[in-house]
Amino acid sequence: MKTAQLLNYERDRWIAGDNPAEIVSAIDGAPVATTGSGGIDFGAMLRHARDVGGPALRRLTFHERARMIKALGLAIMARKEELYELNYLTGATRKDGWIDIEGGAGTLFSFSSKGRRELPDAHVLLDGQLEGLSKQGTFVGQHIYTSLQGAAVHINAFNFPVWGMLEKLAPTILAGVPAIVKPASSTAYLCEAAFRVMIEAAVLPPGAIQLIVGGVGDLFDHLTGQDVVSFTGSAHTASKLKSHPTVMRESVKFIAEQDSLNASLLGPDAAPGTPEFDLFIREVATEMTVKAGQKCTAIRRAMAPAEHLDAVQQALSERLAKTKFGDPRAEGTRMGALVSLSQRDDVCARIAELEAAGARIVAGDPAADPPVAGGAFLPPILLRTDDPWAAQAVHDVEAFGPVSTIMPYRDLADAVALANRGKGSLALSLFTHSPDAAREFVQGAAAFHGRMLVLNRDNAAESTGHGSPLPVLVHGGPGRAGGSEEMGGIRGVKHYMQRTAVQSTPTMIAAISEQYIPGAPKDFRDGHPFRKRMSELHIGDTLRTESRTVSVADIEHFAEFTGDKFYAHMDEEAAKASPIFEGRVAHGYLILSFAAGLFVDPDPGPVLANTGLENLRFLTPLYPGDSLRVELTVRSKSLKSEDTGVVRWAVEIFNQKDDLVATYDLLTENVP
Ligand code: NDP
Repeated sequence: MKTAQLLNYERDRWIAGDNPAEIVSAIDGAPVATTGSGGIDFGAMLRHARDVGGPALRRLTFHERARMIKALGLAIMARKEELYELNYLTGATRKDGWIDIEGGAGTLFSFSSKGRRELPDAHVLLDGQLEGLSKQGTFVGQHIYTSLQGAAVHINAFNFPVWGMLEKLAPTILAGVPAIVKPASSTAYLCEAAFRVMIEAAVLPPGAIQLIVGGVGDLFDHLTGQDVVSFTGSAHTASKLKSHPTVMRESVKFIAEQDSLNASLLGPDAAPGTPEFDLFIREVATEMTVKAGQKCTAIRRAMAPAEHLDAVQQALSERLAKTKFGDPRAEGTRMGALVSLSQRDDVCARIAELEAAGARIVAGDPAADPPVAGGAFLPPILLRTDDPWAAQAVHDVEAFGPVSTIMPYRDLADAVALANRGKGSLALSLFTHSPDAAREFVQGAAAFHGRMLVLNRDNAAESTGHGSPLPVLVHGGPGRAGGSEEMGGIRGVKHYMQRTAVQSTPTMIAAISEQYIPGAPKDFRDGHPFRKRMSELHIGDTLRTESRTVSVADIEHFAEFTGDKFYAHMDEEAAKASPIFEGRVAHGYLILSFAAGLFVDPDPGPVLANTGLENLRFLTPLYPGDSLRVELTVRSKSLKSEDTGVVRWAVEIFNQKDDLVATYDLLTENVP
């Protein structure tokens, strides 16, 4: 294979850097590519992101950005085979590559769909409800999120060159922030190829993404408080970068996801012979061998009740012995190579530290001959310590390869304390069929772990497993794991936005947030809104209905018809005796039904379906003889696809005294 010179993507052009460094194949040590970023003006890259990429992204709405993210995912999928070819050179099998490449594209799809479903088709995201700050309602407060006006610097780890880039890019772009991506050098050729696919897809505006292959030079000197650094890698590098003087001085947001001594626990009820025991053995072996154990979430500490530790050792050793490891391109290979010989040396040094602390190897030989000469191969290595309280290193030292240590615990309290001894981890799994054990363990240990999986016979078939970070769930952990979070659906987008408390009138808040806010002016236009396509509806357009009086006969008819004969609707004396009502009241559901009867336009038209109600509140009881009327206002609208959109209506139901009887948001699916 020809050695490729990897290029930086700097200010919308591909350029070679000085001082090239060679990257070799994990399989046989043959040269693959050179990286180099010498001579690049890193300050200019940041300025380009802030001055060109940021404004272009911020002009788009969340939904427009969400559609771009989907298009990037489709571009990756269309050219995935090119990426799979390079994936092998990192030592990874095709299955490992699936997690990286298709998992990366899947993360883009997930963020795109969440963005379109959960974010408004606007530029501002509201945080929480309007806070009333005054008696007359003229002075209100609203928290809003807006896009940061700097750049996101993404520093990625070597182990997932595609997924690692995309899981950070998806929330960043959705937030409207441009990114500068710096992959780990040892696998930068795969990241560069995936980055190139995205550039060639011509989906993103100029300046939205840039790439550095090689060192970052003086980039950090140019950071400001509007920038974000998102880092994945070693705790050592994280703490070095976090304490960079500019990061400290400018209060640059720093998201760190770093080494973690993840634990897995065989529950006290999960004796040999139970489904949970078998699942535990399978999961620990899988986590040791997928990606040759080079996963931030891999199980490093496997804990079992003391009386079952021998059985665990035997079952795990037998399973690991069957793992075919070797050239990842060969048919049937289950585990490939580590990323490089130096990573292999590092893992062997860490194994030696674990041994020095009292752990002993019970399966696998670190000195075994490599299946391919010159390759960075290491078989799965299982260690055991019988005194996990004395062997502190097993809770401190991460061997970032196919390495795990089994250890006993006495009881659940002991297991909780041992699990928490890792001082903060990304992922933990517990294998139990006992709700009591799950409660005691999770409540005792959750504060130390970013994600916890309770696995058993009931969910194993559908589970995504211990090691899979999911775009909709947070990925990160406290303490040693970095003290940050990534992903987690829309939570991850907010890392790249600023929350601001805005205080003003409802009119101003509505204008700022691009949606109708109760108390803001309404526009009572001609024509029923259900007769208008979404494009003809404006935010604030309001329909005011006729009013209708509610009688005792209506209430009794509704009670008979639905079967809801709750005393407050049917028994005058009992209703009077309640601390809430002055007598019989109309059913809440009757009020909703009458409201719909008042505002609905019956004929087929651009409103296709009622898809739900949100934030429903009943505020004033409606007594027989009272009347009700409705104001239906367009709160916000968003496109779901080319053929359908969603209109969110603010529904306000008033009585004859103009007191608010009920409010809610109505969601309808509409013709755009
Ligand atoms: P590093 O922390 O050395 O590297 C992580 C990233 O940081 C790489 O992109 C690297 O680039 C970059 N980097 C390193 N130094 C600097 C610097 N001074 N300024 C800016 N960027 C920098 O981790 P490694 O990849 O070498 O892995 C070492 C260990 O980290 C592993 O053995 C494992 O323990 C842990 N790790 C944890 C991961 C996790 O997901 N939690 C993932 C990967 C590793 P470059 O490659 O060019 O040096």
